Amino acid sequence: MRLRFRRLAGIALTGTLLGWMSVVLGHGTAGAPAKSARAIEFPDTDQYQTLVVDLHTHSVFSDGHVWPKIRVGEALRDGLDAYAVTEHLEWQPHLADIPHPDRNRSYQESVAAAAGSDLIVISGSEITRREPAGHMNAVFIEDANALLKVGTPPEDSSDTIGHFLAADQWPPEQAVMAASAQGAFVFWNHPYYTRIYPNAVARMTDFHRTLIDQGHLHGIEVVNGNTYSEEAFQIALDYDLALIGVSDIHDLIDWDYRPEAGGHRPVNLVFAEERTAEAIQAALFARRTVIWFKNLLIGRAADLAPLLDASLDIVDARYRPDLEIVDLTIENHSDANLVLKNLTDYTFVGHADYIQVPPHGMTRVTVRPGKVVDTLELEFEVVNALTAPKQHPRMRYSIPVADVPEP
Ligand SMILES: [Zn+2]
Ligand SMILES: [Zn+2]
Repeated sequence: MRLRFRRLAGIALTGTLLGWMSVVLGHGTAGAPAKSARAIEFPDTDQYQTLVVDLHTHSVFSDGHVWPKIRVGEALRDGLDAYAVTEHLEWQPHLADIPHPDRNRSYQESVAAAAGSDLIVISGSEITRREPAGHMNAVFIEDANALLKVGTPPEDSSDTIGHFLAADQWPPEQAVMAASAQGAFVFWNHPYYTRIYPNAVARMTDFHRTLIDQGHLHGIEVVNGNTYSEEAFQIALDYDLALIGVSDIHDLIDWDYRPEAGGHRPVNLVFAEERTAEAIQAALFARRTVIWFKNLLIGRAADLAPLLDASLDIVDARYRPDLEIVDLTIENHSDANLVLKNLTDYTFVGHADYIQVPPHGMTRVTVRPGKVVDTLELEFEVVNALTAPKQHPRMRYSIPVADVPEP
């Protein structure tokens, strides 16, 4: 009797202990408000879904300062469709406190924290070397461990530089090749890093040109954090690389980008066949990206035109009774505060040459065509979009006008 009681008590204790341990050992899911005012929103194009993706983030598993769960919570609040976990493989300042021989741990923790949400978490790594290789992100990898070889690590795991120098011995092209063997999409990070290049100018190197020629390097960061590089943009166009814009977040999104004050992290808009990891990967390999950076949209004309087309609508154009002026409404379905420069001879009575259309809002515009027309031929330069360094896309519209006055 007594024995039986003790056994039962043991079972009860085990059950309680397991419940208690799962609370303590698991780190829980991140959760987020169902609808967040700070969510980044752009319309789908005629052909593709427009997905919001951040391909460069850090946590305490490399040199970031938050647990992966916080990255997931931020991604949900920012309305991201996907983000990549890209810890430095070789630069490990927290290794003494957070030893993790399996370099997939950060990704696994992130996936666990995203459980129950529809956020797509992408497995990646930042391959980190001294120049000329510098830093490269490999995303859509299978196993981060295969991208790292540390010959003889220092005895002291808090010797961050010693650890880096031991890992730096393995030729970076071999790490890229190992990523490529897993089907990774690889891009060149912040090629204008001011710590290395005081003039902040990105230049092609023999190392990167060889990787591009061999088909192992597919993109380049034109935007990283708060910085934009015209030279990186031109390199992307010259070498047919995907245009990449990322947060490279180490601290908190709220501290660096102030979303509650109207700011946002830099992201890629990726034009995908469907909302899956595979479709994002395919779109990246096909170079179908636009960068959303501050109030700027950066992309090839072929990608920007359909996005701007889906973002802007001109509606309700009609003559004012007994007058030869036209009122019309320009609608904006995107997060950008669109700045349009009038390229026609028409006068925009209330605006002069520049018209702003607020995000997810509209602007009423009055046009004096100079003669009575039944169709307005409008042409705008989109000032806050770039198709090449210092080049802005143009949008043309033929708008039928209602209530045309009798001659
Ligand atoms: Zn880096
Ligand atoms: Zn980084």
